[in-house]
Amino acid sequence: MSKIWVLGAGQLGAMLKQAANPLGLDVEAVDIESQAQLNLAADDIVTAEREEWPSTPATNQLATHANFVNLQTFPQLADRLTQKQLLDKLELATAPWFPVTEETSAEQLHQDLGERVLLKQRRGGYDGKGQHWLKSSQPSPVPSDWKGCAIAEQGIKFDEEVSLVGVRGKSGETFFYPLTLNLHIDGILYASIAPLKRLVELQAKAEGMLAKLMNDLDYVGVMAMECFRVGDQLMINELAPRVHNSGHWTQAGASTDQFENHMRAVAGLPLAQAQIKNQSMMVNLIGVPVNYNWLAISGLELYWYKKEVRVGRKVGHLNFCSGDNTALIKALTELEDLPAPYDQALAWLTEHLSK
Ligand code: AMP
Repeated sequence: MSKIWVLGAGQLGAMLKQAANPLGLDVEAVDIESQAQLNLAADDIVTAEREEWPSTPATNQLATHANFVNLQTFPQLADRLTQKQLLDKLELATAPWFPVTEETSAEQLHQDLGERVLLKQRRGGYDGKGQHWLKSSQPSPVPSDWKGCAIAEQGIKFDEEVSLVGVRGKSGETFFYPLTLNLHIDGILYASIAPLKRLVELQAKAEGMLAKLMNDLDYVGVMAMECFRVGDQLMINELAPRVHNSGHWTQAGASTDQFENHMRAVAGLPLAQAQIKNQSMMVNLIGVPVNYNWLAISGLELYWYKKEVRVGRKVGHLNFCSGDNTALIKALTELEDLPAPYDQALAWLTEHLSK
Protein backbone atom coordinates (compact mmCIF):
# COMPACT_ATOMS: atom_id res chain seq x y z
CA MET A 1 0.00 0.00 0.00
CA SER A 2 1.29 3.48 -0.87
CA LYS A 3 2.39 5.88 1.80
CA ILE A 4 -0.04 8.68 2.73
CA TRP A 5 1.43 12.12 3.39
CA VAL A 6 -0.51 14.68 5.41
CA LEU A 7 0.32 18.30 4.70
CA GLY A 8 0.37 19.80 8.20
CA ALA A 9 1.47 18.22 11.46
CA GLY A 10 -0.91 19.81 13.95
CA GLN A 11 -3.42 17.92 16.07
CA LEU A 12 -5.55 16.99 13.04
CA GLY A 13 -2.54 15.45 11.30
CA ALA A 14 -1.67 13.55 14.48
CA MET A 15 -5.21 12.23 14.85
CA LEU A 16 -5.34 11.20 11.17
CA LYS A 17 -2.14 9.23 11.68
CA GLN A 18 -3.46 7.68 14.87
CA ALA A 19 -6.70 6.61 13.15
CA ALA A 20 -4.84 5.05 10.22
CA ASN A 21 -2.58 3.01 12.48
CA PRO A 22 -4.92 0.03 13.12
CA LEU A 23 -5.49 -0.23 9.36
CA GLY A 24 -1.76 -0.67 8.86
CA LEU A 25 -1.54 2.45 6.69
CA ASP A 26 1.80 4.15 6.50
CA VAL A 27 1.16 7.83 7.28
CA GLU A 28 3.55 10.75 7.65
CA ALA A 29 2.38 14.19 8.76
CA VAL A 30 4.65 16.98 7.50
CA ASP A 31 5.15 20.24 9.39
CA ILE A 32 4.30 23.20 7.17
CA GLU A 33 7.59 24.88 8.09
CA SER A 34 9.63 21.81 7.18
CA GLN A 35 12.68 22.52 5.06
CA ALA A 36 13.25 18.82 4.45
CA GLN A 37 13.43 17.16 1.06
CA LEU A 38 10.73 14.47 1.22
CA ASN A 39 11.19 11.01 -0.14
CA LEU A 40 7.95 11.00 -2.13
CA ALA A 41 7.18 8.09 -4.45
CA ALA A 42 5.08 8.48 -7.60
CA ASP A 43 2.25 6.29 -6.25
CA ASP A 44 2.13 7.91 -2.80
CA ILE A 45 -1.00 9.81 -1.78
CA VAL A 46 -1.16 13.34 -0.37
CA THR A 47 -3.88 14.86 1.81
CA ALA A 48 -3.94 17.97 4.03
CA GLU A 49 -5.14 18.87 7.49
CA ARG A 50 -5.42 22.59 6.70
CA GLU A 51 -6.66 24.82 3.88
CA GLU A 52 -3.56 26.96 3.44
CA TRP A 53 0.16 26.55 3.78
CA PRO A 54 3.28 28.63 3.23
CA SER A 55 5.54 27.81 0.34
CA THR A 56 8.45 25.69 1.62
CA PRO A 57 10.48 22.97 -0.11
CA ALA A 58 8.34 20.31 1.62
CA THR A 59 4.91 21.90 0.98
CA ASN A 60 5.84 22.61 -2.64
CA GLN A 61 6.83 19.00 -3.13
CA LEU A 62 3.54 17.78 -1.62
CA ALA A 63 1.33 20.33 -3.38
CA THR A 64 2.70 19.46 -6.81
CA HIS A 65 2.37 15.71 -6.37
CA ALA A 66 0.03 14.10 -8.93
CA ASN A 67 -1.88 12.24 -6.18
CA PHE A 68 -2.73 15.25 -4.00
CA VAL A 69 -6.40 14.52 -3.26
CA ASN A 70 -8.76 17.53 -3.67
CA LEU A 71 -5.90 19.87 -4.61
CA GLN A 72 -8.23 22.26 -6.51
CA THR A 73 -10.72 22.45 -3.64
CA PHE A 74 -8.30 23.84 -1.06
CA PRO A 75 -7.75 27.29 -2.63
CA GLN A 76 -11.43 27.50 -3.61
CA LEU A 77 -12.64 27.00 -0.03
CA ALA A 78 -9.75 28.78 1.69
CA ASP A 79 -10.90 32.07 0.13
CA ARG A 80 -14.26 33.10 1.58
CA LEU A 81 -15.08 34.96 -1.63
CA THR A 82 -14.79 31.90 -3.88
CA GLN A 83 -16.41 29.73 -1.19
CA LYS A 84 -19.45 32.05 -1.14
CA GLN A 85 -19.53 32.10 -4.97
CA LEU A 86 -19.62 28.30 -4.97
CA LEU A 87 -22.56 28.27 -2.51
CA ASP A 88 -24.42 30.82 -4.66
CA LYS A 89 -23.71 28.84 -7.83
CA LEU A 90 -25.18 25.71 -6.24
CA GLU A 91 -28.10 27.74 -4.83
CA LEU A 92 -27.29 26.66 -1.29
CA ALA A 93 -28.52 29.03 1.42
CA THR A 94 -25.83 31.18 3.05
CA ALA A 95 -25.82 34.55 4.83
CA PRO A 96 -26.40 37.30 2.23
CA TRP A 97 -23.05 38.83 1.37
CA PHE A 98 -21.03 41.25 -0.75
CA PRO A 99 -17.35 41.48 -1.57
CA VAL A 100 -15.64 44.38 0.20
CA THR A 101 -14.00 46.53 -2.48
CA GLU A 102 -12.25 49.92 -2.48
CA GLU A 103 -15.65 51.54 -3.12
CA THR A 104 -17.55 49.72 -0.35
CA SER A 105 -18.95 51.98 2.36
CA ALA A 106 -20.48 51.05 5.70
CA GLU A 107 -23.64 53.04 4.82
CA GLN A 108 -24.15 51.00 1.65
CA LEU A 109 -23.54 47.74 3.50
CA HIS A 110 -26.12 48.65 6.14
CA GLN A 111 -28.57 49.59 3.41
CA ASP A 112 -28.06 46.26 1.62
CA LEU A 113 -27.51 43.90 4.55
CA GLY A 114 -29.17 45.53 7.56
CA GLU A 115 -28.18 46.82 10.99
CA ARG A 116 -25.58 44.18 11.80
CA VAL A 117 -22.90 43.46 9.23
CA LEU A 118 -19.99 41.11 9.80
CA LEU A 119 -16.80 41.73 7.84
CA LYS A 120 -14.68 38.63 7.40
CA GLN A 121 -11.15 38.49 6.03
CA ARG A 122 -11.18 36.44 2.85
CA ARG A 123 -8.20 34.35 3.94
CA GLY A 124 -6.68 33.03 7.12
CA GLY A 125 -9.55 33.82 9.52
CA TYR A 126 -10.44 31.02 11.95
CA ASP A 127 -11.81 30.66 15.47
CA GLY A 128 -13.45 34.08 15.22
CA LYS A 129 -10.19 35.73 14.14
CA GLY A 130 -10.37 37.99 11.08
CA GLN A 131 -13.88 39.26 11.93
CA HIS A 132 -15.05 42.83 12.35
CA TRP A 133 -18.61 43.87 13.22
CA LEU A 134 -20.25 46.98 11.79
CA LYS A 135 -23.37 48.08 13.67
CA SER A 136 -25.53 50.91 12.40
CA SER A 137 -26.41 51.76 16.03
CA GLN A 138 -22.71 52.66 16.56
CA PRO A 139 -21.67 53.77 13.06
CA SER A 140 -18.09 53.06 12.07
CA PRO A 141 -16.42 52.94 8.65
CA VAL A 142 -15.06 49.91 6.81
CA PRO A 143 -11.40 49.77 7.95
CA SER A 144 -9.28 50.82 4.97
CA ASP A 145 -6.99 47.79 5.24
CA TRP A 146 -10.01 45.44 4.91
CA LYS A 147 -10.91 46.80 1.48
CA GLY A 148 -10.18 44.33 -1.30
CA CYS A 149 -9.45 41.46 1.10
CA ALA A 150 -12.73 40.84 2.92
CA ILE A 151 -16.37 39.96 2.41
CA ALA A 152 -19.33 41.49 4.25
CA GLU A 153 -22.09 39.24 5.57
CA GLN A 154 -25.47 39.95 7.02
CA GLY A 155 -25.45 39.35 10.79
CA ILE A 156 -27.74 36.34 11.20
CA LYS A 157 -29.95 36.01 14.26
CA PHE A 158 -29.75 32.24 14.31
CA ASP A 159 -31.46 29.88 16.73
CA GLU A 160 -28.37 27.71 17.08
CA GLU A 161 -25.31 26.42 15.25
CA VAL A 162 -25.09 22.91 13.84
CA SER A 163 -22.60 21.11 11.64
CA LEU A 164 -22.60 18.10 9.40
CA VAL A 165 -19.54 15.94 8.78
CA GLY A 166 -19.69 13.73 5.72
CA VAL A 167 -17.32 11.56 3.73
CA ARG A 168 -17.25 10.84 0.01
CA GLY A 169 -15.34 8.02 -1.62
CA LYS A 170 -13.56 7.77 -4.95
CA SER A 171 -16.63 6.21 -6.61
CA GLY A 172 -18.88 8.98 -5.35
CA GLU A 173 -20.44 7.09 -2.42
CA THR A 174 -21.30 9.29 0.58
CA PHE A 175 -21.84 8.67 4.29
CA PHE A 176 -22.75 11.15 6.99
CA TYR A 177 -22.53 11.47 10.76
CA PRO A 178 -25.55 12.80 12.65
CA LEU A 179 -25.90 16.58 12.85
CA THR A 180 -23.88 18.04 15.72
CA LEU A 181 -25.03 20.94 17.87
CA ASN A 182 -22.19 23.37 18.54
CA LEU A 183 -21.57 26.16 21.01
CA HIS A 184 -19.26 28.94 19.84
CA ILE A 185 -18.23 31.66 22.26
CA ASP A 186 -16.57 34.69 20.66
CA GLY A 187 -16.31 32.76 17.40
CA ILE A 188 -14.48 29.75 18.87
CA LEU A 189 -15.95 26.26 19.33
CA TYR A 190 -16.25 25.38 23.02
CA ALA A 191 -18.56 22.38 23.03
CA SER A 192 -20.42 19.96 20.79
CA ILE A 193 -23.15 17.45 21.42
CA ALA A 194 -24.49 14.68 19.14
CA PRO A 195 -26.70 13.00 18.23
CA LEU A 196 -29.82 14.94 19.22
CA LYS A 197 -33.30 13.55 18.47
CA ARG A 198 -34.74 16.94 17.65
CA LEU A 199 -32.15 17.48 14.89
CA VAL A 200 -33.11 14.27 13.08
CA GLU A 201 -35.76 16.11 11.06
CA LEU A 202 -33.02 18.34 9.59
CA GLN A 203 -30.64 15.48 8.78
CA ALA A 204 -31.88 14.69 5.25
CA LYS A 205 -31.87 18.35 4.28
CA ALA A 206 -28.32 18.83 5.59
CA GLU A 207 -27.09 15.67 3.88
CA GLY A 208 -28.59 16.84 0.57
CA MET A 209 -26.73 20.15 0.85
CA LEU A 210 -23.36 18.62 1.67
CA ALA A 211 -23.76 15.87 -0.94
CA LYS A 212 -24.48 18.51 -3.59
CA LEU A 213 -21.25 20.30 -2.66
CA MET A 214 -19.07 17.21 -2.50
CA ASN A 215 -20.47 15.89 -5.79
CA ASP A 216 -19.96 19.22 -7.56
CA LEU A 217 -16.34 19.31 -6.39
CA ASP A 218 -15.84 15.58 -7.11
CA TYR A 219 -14.52 15.62 -3.57
CA VAL A 220 -12.85 12.65 -1.86
CA GLY A 221 -12.57 12.46 1.93
CA VAL A 222 -14.21 14.15 4.90
CA MET A 223 -15.81 17.55 4.55
CA ALA A 224 -17.53 19.58 7.28
CA MET A 225 -20.39 22.01 6.75
CA GLU A 226 -21.11 24.50 9.53
CA CYS A 227 -24.62 25.93 9.49
CA PHE A 228 -26.89 28.34 11.27
CA ARG A 229 -30.30 26.92 12.07
CA VAL A 230 -32.98 29.53 11.59
CA GLY A 231 -36.32 27.87 12.31
CA ASP A 232 -36.41 24.80 10.08
CA GLN A 233 -33.93 26.31 7.61
CA LEU A 234 -30.21 25.70 7.40
CA MET A 235 -27.88 28.44 6.23
CA ILE A 236 -24.29 27.44 5.47
CA ASN A 237 -21.77 29.51 7.40
CA GLU A 238 -18.55 27.78 6.47
CA LEU A 239 -17.13 24.73 4.74
CA ALA A 240 -13.97 22.88 5.72
CA PRO A 241 -12.35 20.50 3.20
CA ARG A 242 -10.94 18.33 5.97
CA VAL A 243 -11.67 16.65 9.28
CA HIS A 244 -13.24 19.15 11.66
CA ASN A 245 -13.28 20.02 15.34
CA SER A 246 -17.06 19.55 15.51
CA GLY A 247 -16.52 15.92 14.47
CA HIS A 248 -14.07 15.09 17.26
CA TRP A 249 -16.84 13.43 19.30
CA THR A 250 -16.88 10.63 16.69
CA GLN A 251 -13.66 9.32 18.27
CA ALA A 252 -15.75 8.26 21.27
CA GLY A 253 -19.20 7.97 19.80
CA ALA A 254 -18.95 6.28 16.40
CA SER A 255 -17.77 2.84 15.32
CA THR A 256 -15.57 4.54 12.70
CA ASP A 257 -14.51 8.09 13.43
CA GLN A 258 -14.11 11.00 11.00
CA PHE A 259 -10.33 10.56 10.93
CA GLU A 260 -10.44 6.91 9.91
CA ASN A 261 -13.12 7.54 7.29
CA HIS A 262 -11.00 10.32 5.79
CA MET A 263 -7.96 8.07 5.58
CA ARG A 264 -10.04 5.24 4.09
CA ALA A 265 -11.39 7.64 1.46
CA VAL A 266 -8.06 9.08 0.35
CA ALA A 267 -6.53 5.58 0.29
CA GLY A 268 -9.40 4.36 -1.91
CA LEU A 269 -10.58 1.84 0.71
CA PRO A 270 -14.23 1.00 1.50
CA LEU A 271 -15.89 3.63 3.68
CA ALA A 272 -17.93 2.92 6.78
CA GLN A 273 -21.46 3.96 7.57
CA ALA A 274 -20.48 4.52 11.17
CA GLN A 275 -22.66 3.03 13.88
CA ILE A 276 -23.44 5.69 16.47
CA LYS A 277 -23.00 4.70 20.09
CA ASN A 278 -25.20 6.46 22.63
CA GLN A 279 -24.91 10.15 23.51
CA SER A 280 -21.63 11.96 22.90
CA MET A 281 -20.29 15.35 23.85
CA MET A 282 -17.00 17.14 23.35
CA VAL A 283 -15.42 19.96 25.34
CA ASN A 284 -12.58 21.87 23.71
CA LEU A 285 -9.64 22.80 25.93
CA ILE A 286 -8.92 26.42 25.03
CA GLY A 287 -6.08 28.29 26.70
CA VAL A 288 -6.16 26.03 29.77
CA PRO A 289 -3.45 23.70 31.11
CA VAL A 290 -3.99 19.96 31.22
CA ASN A 291 -5.20 18.54 34.51
CA TYR A 292 -4.50 14.81 34.71
CA ASN A 293 -6.94 14.52 37.64
CA TRP A 294 -9.63 14.69 34.96
CA LEU A 295 -8.67 11.11 34.03
CA ALA A 296 -10.39 9.97 37.22
CA ILE A 297 -13.72 11.13 35.79
CA SER A 298 -15.67 8.11 34.62
CA GLY A 299 -15.96 7.86 30.82
CA LEU A 300 -13.75 10.87 30.05
CA GLU A 301 -11.36 10.59 27.10
CA LEU A 302 -8.55 13.15 27.02
CA TYR A 303 -6.77 14.35 23.90
CA TRP A 304 -3.92 16.70 24.82
CA TYR A 305 -2.09 18.21 21.85
CA LYS A 306 1.19 19.01 23.65
CA LYS A 307 1.00 22.63 22.49
CA GLU A 308 2.11 25.64 24.48
CA VAL A 309 -0.92 27.01 26.35
CA ARG A 310 -1.90 30.47 25.13
CA VAL A 311 -5.07 32.50 25.57
CA GLY A 312 -7.67 31.46 22.99
CA ARG A 313 -5.55 28.57 21.66
CA LYS A 314 -7.02 25.08 21.22
CA VAL A 315 -4.71 22.81 23.19
CA GLY A 316 -6.81 19.68 23.60
CA HIS A 317 -10.28 18.26 23.86
CA LEU A 318 -12.33 15.97 26.06
CA ASN A 319 -14.75 13.40 24.68
CA PHE A 320 -17.51 11.62 26.54
CA CYS A 321 -19.95 8.97 25.36
CA SER A 322 -22.58 7.23 27.45
CA GLY A 323 -26.06 5.77 27.32
CA ASP A 324 -26.77 7.45 30.63
CA ASN A 325 -27.23 11.21 30.43
CA THR A 326 -27.19 11.51 34.23
CA ALA A 327 -23.66 10.08 34.18
CA LEU A 328 -22.64 12.63 31.55
CA ILE A 329 -24.08 15.50 33.60
CA LYS A 330 -22.24 14.19 36.67
CA ALA A 331 -18.98 14.06 34.70
CA LEU A 332 -19.40 17.73 33.79
CA THR A 333 -19.78 18.68 37.47
CA GLU A 334 -16.47 16.93 38.18
CA LEU A 335 -14.43 18.99 35.72
CA GLU A 336 -12.32 21.20 37.94
CA ASP A 337 -10.13 24.20 37.23
CA LEU A 338 -11.91 25.40 34.12
CA PRO A 339 -12.16 29.20 34.14
CA ALA A 340 -14.84 31.37 32.52
CA PRO A 341 -16.44 30.97 30.02
CA TYR A 342 -16.47 27.22 30.77
CA ASP A 343 -19.30 27.79 33.26
CA GLN A 344 -21.35 28.83 30.23
CA ALA A 345 -20.18 25.89 28.08
CA LEU A 346 -20.81 23.27 30.78
CA ALA A 347 -24.24 24.76 31.58
CA TRP A 348 -25.08 24.64 27.86
CA LEU A 349 -24.15 20.94 27.66
CA THR A 350 -26.07 20.15 30.85
CA GLU A 351 -29.13 21.92 29.49
CA HIS A 352 -29.07 19.91 26.25
CA LEU A 353 -28.44 16.64 28.09
CA SER A 354 -31.40 17.33 30.36
CA LYS A 355 -33.90 17.90 27.52
P1 AMP B 1 -16.53 31.64 11.18
O1 AMP B 1 -15.13 32.06 11.41
O2 AMP B 1 -17.14 32.11 9.89
O3 AMP B 1 -16.73 30.15 11.40
O4 AMP B 1 -17.38 32.31 12.33
C1 AMP B 1 -17.17 32.00 13.69
C2 AMP B 1 -18.45 32.25 14.46
O5 AMP B 1 -18.86 33.63 14.32
C3 AMP B 1 -19.64 31.43 13.98
O6 AMP B 1 -19.61 30.15 14.49
C4 AMP B 1 -20.77 32.27 14.54
O7 AMP B 1 -20.92 32.06 15.93
C5 AMP B 1 -20.28 33.71 14.31
N1 AMP B 1 -20.73 34.20 12.98
C6 AMP B 1 -20.11 33.98 11.81
N2 AMP B 1 -20.79 34.53 10.78
C7 AMP B 1 -21.88 35.12 11.31
C8 AMP B 1 -22.99 35.85 10.76
N3 AMP B 1 -23.09 36.10 9.45
N4 AMP B 1 -23.94 36.28 11.63
C9 AMP B 1 -23.85 36.05 12.96
N5 AMP B 1 -22.82 35.36 13.54
C10 AMP B 1 -21.85 34.90 12.74
